[in-house]
Amino acid sequence: MGILDIFHKQETAQPVPAAPQTGLAEKVLNSITEGVLIVDGKNIIQMINPAAVLMTGCGAAENAVSLDIGTILKFENSQGMKIEDASNLILAALNKNEALSIREYILVTAQGQKKPVAVTVTPMGGLGGESIVTVRDITKEREEEGAQMEFISTASHEMRTPVASIEGYLGLALNPQTATIDDRARKYLEEAHASSKHLGKLFQDLLDTTKLDDGKLKVHMTPVEVSTLVRSIVEGQVPAIAAKGLQYSFGSPDSRNGINIEQLSYASVDVDFLREVVNNLLENAIKYTPAGGAIWVNVRGDGDRVLINVTDSGIGISPEDLKHIFQKFYRVDNSQTREIGGTGLGLYLVKQRVEAMGGTVWAESSFGDGSTFYISLPRLTAEEYERRKQIQANQEAMGGAVVRAVGSAPSPAGTQGRSAEPTPPTMAPAPVAPVASAAPPVVPPNNVAK
Ligand code: ADP
Repeated sequence: MGILDIFHKQETAQPVPAAPQTGLAEKVLNSITEGVLIVDGKNIIQMINPAAVLMTGCGAAENAVSLDIGTILKFENSQGMKIEDASNLILAALNKNEALSIREYILVTAQGQKKPVAVTVTPMGGLGGESIVTVRDITKEREEEGAQMEFISTASHEMRTPVASIEGYLGLALNPQTATIDDRARKYLEEAHASSKHLGKLFQDLLDTTKLDDGKLKVHMTPVEVSTLVRSIVEGQVPAIAAKGLQYSFGSPDSRNGINIEQLSYASVDVDFLREVVNNLLENAIKYTPAGGAIWVNVRGDGDRVLINVTDSGIGISPEDLKHIFQKFYRVDNSQTREIGGTGLGLYLVKQRVEAMGGTVWAESSFGDGSTFYISLPRLTAEEYERRKQIQANQEAMGGAVVRAVGSAPSPAGTQGRSAEPTPPTMAPAPVAPVASAAPPVVPPNNVAK
C-alpha cells in the first residue's frame, strides 16, 4: 500500500476501525503548520497540504499536484545564490531515495518572498517509491539564534578584557622578579591564575564560536604544502607534550630504516584556521593522555583528499559519547574527565573551521584505548598548487587582495632551519621525502590506526 492510499482508503474502507484513523491522518495534515508534500519516484507531487501551499505561495493544491517538486520548491543559499537542480541536496536525496534533514536553505515563494526553512526528506519504500518532504519555516528560530549570538558575543567580549587583566596581575604576583609572596599564598594564587586562564579561554572560545556562526569571520584560503605546515604547528607544542611525559612522532613510520617519512601534499587552507584546529586537537590529545602515553601526527595524500591524523594512546571515548563530541558545549562526564578542565567548545570550533575550509573532521576511538581525530581536506595536484601560488603572487604584486602565505606564518622554535616552502614538485601525486623524525616512531594504537 502506498502512502496515498491512506487518504483514498477513507472512501472505500469499512467504517470501523480503519476509517477514523485515516480521516484523522488527513485532518492532522490539513491542520499542522509544517508543510508536507508527497512525491512519487519521479519527484512528481502527489499530495501537498495547506501549510505547504501557503509556504510556497502556489495558491492551491491543484496548482502543485502533478508537477515536479523542483518547480514548486525553489531555494537560495544564505548568500542569496539560487540553488541549481544539480546542486540541490533535496533533489539528490529524492533521486537516491535517501533520508535528509537540512536547515541551510532559503525557500523562495512564487511571489519572490524568502524564508529560511528546515527541510526533511523521508523515503517510504525502495528506489522509485514515494517520499515525504516536510518544510518548516524557521524564521523565528533564526531570529532567536541571532539574538542569542549577539548577546553571547557582546557578553564574552566585555568579560574577556577584565579577565585578561586579572590573569596578568596574578602572573605578576607569581613572578619572583615582580613580587614576594609566601608559599601558602603562592598555592592559592596558582589556583586563581589557572582558573582565570580557563575563564579567559572560555570567553575566547565563545567569541570565536559566535564569529563564525554569524558569518563575521572571513576565510582566507591559501595554497600550502600541508605536511610542512602541520609539522611546524605541532612542533610548537613539543614542550607541552614533553612536560606531560608523552612520546611524540610525526610522519609515517617506515619499518625499513626506522625513520619516519613525510609525504608532501597540497591543499588550499586558511592557515590561521588550520593552526587553530591542529592546536586544539593536540591540546586535547595532551590533556586526555596520561603520562607515559604517546601522540602521533601524520599527513598523507589519499586520492583527491589530504588526510591529517592526530592520534593518542589516551583515555579514549565511548561510542555513546563519540556521537556527540563535536556538539557545542558537549563534555564527556566520567571519573577521568571530571578532573580535567575544559569548555566543550574546542571540537565544535574545530568542526566549524574545518567545514569552512571545505573539509570534514571525524574521530575514531574506543574507551580506554586512545583516539584518532581525522581531518580530510580537498587535495590539490602539484601543478594546481603551483598555479594557485602564481595567481596569489601576481595578486600580491599588483597590490590586490593580500592573502597570507604559509611562509609568512610565525614559525615556532625548532622549525626555523627548514623552509616552509616545499621543493617545487614535478608531478602529482606528490613525491615522498624521507625526513628524520625528532622522536622514535610511535606505532599508532591498534584500535584507531585504520
Ligand atoms: P573540552 O574543552 O572539554 O576538551 P572539546 O570540545 O575539545 O571540549 O572536547 C569535547 C569532549 O571530547 C571532551 O570533554 C573530552 O571528553 C572528549 N575528547 C576530546 N578529545 C579527546 C581525546 N583526544 N581523548 C579523549 N577524549 C577526548
